[in-house]
Amino acid sequence: MTEPEGPVPFQTFILKVANRCNIDCDYCFVFNSKDQAARRLPARMDLAVAQAAARRIGEHASAHRLRTIHVVLHGGEPLLVGVGHMAGLLQVVGDSVPTGTRVLFELQTNGTLLSDTWLDLFERYEVAVGVSLDGPPHANDRHRLTHAGRSSAASAVRGIELLRSRPHLFAGLLAVVDLANDPVEVHDYLAVFEPPVIDFGLPHATHDDPPHRSDPTVPEYGLWMSRVYDAWLARPEYGHTVRMLEDIVALSSGVRSSVETLGLAPPTSVVIESDGSIEAVDTLRSVEEGATWLGLDVLRHSFDEALSHPKLLHRQHGREALAEQCRACPLVDVCGGGYLPHRFSEAQGYRNPSVYCADLEYLIRHVQSSVRQHGWDPYAQSSS
Ligand code: SF4
Repeated sequence: MTEPEGPVPFQTFILKVANRCNIDCDYCFVFNSKDQAARRLPARMDLAVAQAAARRIGEHASAHRLRTIHVVLHGGEPLLVGVGHMAGLLQVVGDSVPTGTRVLFELQTNGTLLSDTWLDLFERYEVAVGVSLDGPPHANDRHRLTHAGRSSAASAVRGIELLRSRPHLFAGLLAVVDLANDPVEVHDYLAVFEPPVIDFGLPHATHDDPPHRSDPTVPEYGLWMSRVYDAWLARPEYGHTVRMLEDIVALSSGVRSSVETLGLAPPTSVVIESDGSIEAVDTLRSVEEGATWLGLDVLRHSFDEALSHPKLLHRQHGREALAEQCRACPLVDVCGGGYLPHRFSEAQGYRNPSVYCADLEYLIRHVQSSVRQHGWDPYAQSSS
């Protein structure tokens, strides 16, 4: 796989339109992690800030002749901004994108506030909606409780069912892995909602704050995801993809990953906070206070200035930015050293293998050997 010559432009712009949430997930990287900036930021993004962001997005799209860009409406819980305000945000962004650039709107929600009024708005602006749900109620209740400590599962499921009535708006489901949950039960439960995509995320962790394991000598997260893979493969009638698994298959054949968690392709997303600050990947909030802070904002700075900021520039260096162990690893083209926050330690910064190294190795080998058994040799096409 060849590495890029210059900075690859941003193509995904994550607008933090709301900085509050109506539920209180204990693993939330916005409100319950080391960086507490979200609590000091405006509760919602003003239209003036959205307008400035939209002008910068338009400028970036023109300068780099981008045919398609993604604008992700994120939070906190983005639906807390209200329908009228969201309509204004969508309108100003849509108006600022140059002719010839297609804007794909996406929104990630906990689903609990979805209504027909919201879906009418999303219909009008063609917004694809993803919902977070960790599995059946007893699994979801391990982490995704309300501020009063009550289950949010029933209202999230009600929202998903409403979304299913307009399947063209349904982008997929996002679940965070918890080893205490049964992987097959979680996968099969989520599959019943017929999402186009199920996205599994590994819990945020660093070398200084490692993930929970009952036996550190066993790649428990790799085994968990391998069981999801087997459950997914066992039912050819399933119409959904599982993003992490499909990315492993794609990367094993030399195709670029669609996400930032695997592979060596430079990430192409950037975050715009509710006050207009331009920030590095927001999940880095789990790493340390100020980890995402660049000192740039859409009122005074362009996205090209953000591209060359030292905190983002290392993302362009692919293999060269990785720990020695990763550079020498036969799986590096697929794994890419894992997701950036999972590599962090106070002592070494990001030059570590992922805290999920053994899990990723187990899972990648499991997927590749299964694919080989089905008559295709990923190693024959991979550059590793
Ligand atoms: S994190 Fe582990 S599996 Fe991934 S590239 Fe580095 S050494 Fe290889």
